[in-house]
Amino acid sequence: MPDKFQNFINGKWVDAKSGRTFENRNPAHWDEVIGVFPKSAKEDVDEAVKAARSAYEKWRLVPAPARGDIMRKIGDLLVKNKEELAHEMTREMGKVLEETRGDVQEGIDTAYYAATEGRRLFGHTVPSELPNKFAMAIRVPVGVAAIITPWNFPMAIPTWGIFPAVLSGNTVVFKPASDTPKTATTLIRIMMEAGIPEGVVNLVHGGGGEVGNAIVVHPDVDLILFTGSTDVGKQISRQASATLKRVSLELGGKNAQIVMDDADLDLALDGVLWGAFGTTGQRCTATSRLILHDKIYDAFMAMLVDRTKKLRLGDGLLPTTDVGPCINEAQRNVVQSYIEIGKKEWARLVYGGNIAVQGDLAKGWFHEPTIFDNVKPNMRIAQEEIFGPVLSVIRMASLEEAINIINGTIYGLSSSIYTRDVNKAFVAIRDIKAGITYINVPTIGAEAHLPFGGVKQTGNGHREGGWAVYDFFTEWKAVYVDYSGKLQRAQIDNY
Ligand code: NAP
Repeated sequence: MPDKFQNFINGKWVDAKSGRTFENRNPAHWDEVIGVFPKSAKEDVDEAVKAARSAYEKWRLVPAPARGDIMRKIGDLLVKNKEELAHEMTREMGKVLEETRGDVQEGIDTAYYAATEGRRLFGHTVPSELPNKFAMAIRVPVGVAAIITPWNFPMAIPTWGIFPAVLSGNTVVFKPASDTPKTATTLIRIMMEAGIPEGVVNLVHGGGGEVGNAIVVHPDVDLILFTGSTDVGKQISRQASATLKRVSLELGGKNAQIVMDDADLDLALDGVLWGAFGTTGQRCTATSRLILHDKIYDAFMAMLVDRTKKLRLGDGLLPTTDVGPCINEAQRNVVQSYIEIGKKEWARLVYGGNIAVQGDLAKGWFHEPTIFDNVKPNMRIAQEEIFGPVLSVIRMASLEEAINIINGTIYGLSSSIYTRDVNKAFVAIRDIKAGITYINVPTIGAEAHLPFGGVKQTGNGHREGGWAVYDFFTEWKAVYVDYSGKLQRAQIDNY
């Protein structure tokens, strides 16, 4: 019998009220059931929001440094359990152990950052325009925050939302992706062990259309931090506007790496292999387009194909594996459909292109790392997010052309340029329209203490990570203290 898991509402582990469940399976061995989880619905969401609302009135009064102390304990517990967690996560969503260790590390860094923020949460003091009057602006919590997350970083992304939300004095209803409910459950257990009080963080498992939607339209949810696809993000934005909820959206990308003719080609090669095929291309910041200078095009393509051939597909738990499976059958079908689209568009398939079924690979959702070249910037494989191990290579003859290509999609998350010319690097920093620009670094590798997010249809202007996310999870309150002992009218009323 597979293990059975529950929701976590008001400090108690509970089934969905309907008693319905769903199975979660290992994408590298789809016959292996990881566990059975509650298939929740609106009634379960109502309970979770009620618990979060009630806990909010006490939690908002806990001093931020004390909330920060709990964050430190969470960080310590994540450190202690890192290896076990990484194994569990690889089994649940497939990426290789080295990467799930990194995913946990991002959670650790986010916890320790939140712990220190408990002693900052800086406001402003400013001079008043009147004598004997004091003016300041302080941060106050907002209320009940919904955190809705994808499966590709099952630890890091929930921690990016939950930790700053809670540190700021909000309470949380957390809906993880249906593909990674076990990691979410373990994260909640760790938070409880560290001392998060009952009702402050609530976990509701279930489908996006049912549970996610019920959270989004719930009148007593004040904030939504959503990380996922652009289509769902747009829908959430529309729905949340009915009650003017504050919404932070971190959505899709079509990230590119530029390689100039003066670049260190070996370095650029390591970068693109990691950026394009790490996490099987299933990162929002994955390198999906490679923009190569004409003068090094042929030499670089030969190097790229040679190294890609050496990548080993397999179960992410095996030390021999470089690239794990796609998350599920539907996602692998999406990848395969883009291979057909690329061929029909007359891009040249130079490597891969197939579902992988040799030996044990037949038991999972594996797809070969794939490279198209002769790709034109306006082709669908160069415009649409594929979210799989597919790289589209585009030729260019100048930095200006490369920047036009990089900017020519609806997205603007991550970008990278390899060059030894500092002038070109700074022009790229100035002109690339993206939330993140890396110089001589692949498109992936964000650090927890910097703002993370994108421009255009990658988001709605908010940022996860670093100090910036605390602007989302707090309200500004302006405070005036008059110690003159008489009515002093503000300057606008004096003239
Ligand atoms: P998704 O389908 O949009 O799902 C994301 C989350 O939203 C899941 O928990 C999902 O639940 C839930 N959901 C689905 N429909 C919903 C609805 N109508 N209302 C409320 N919630 C709903 O995305 P995904 O396939 O999990 O993740 C891949 C996408 O995420 C890619 O586009 C990737 O670029 C993006 N992403 C962006 C960032 C970033 O920071 N910019 C980071 C990582 C990933 P179920 O799992 O139950 O469907």
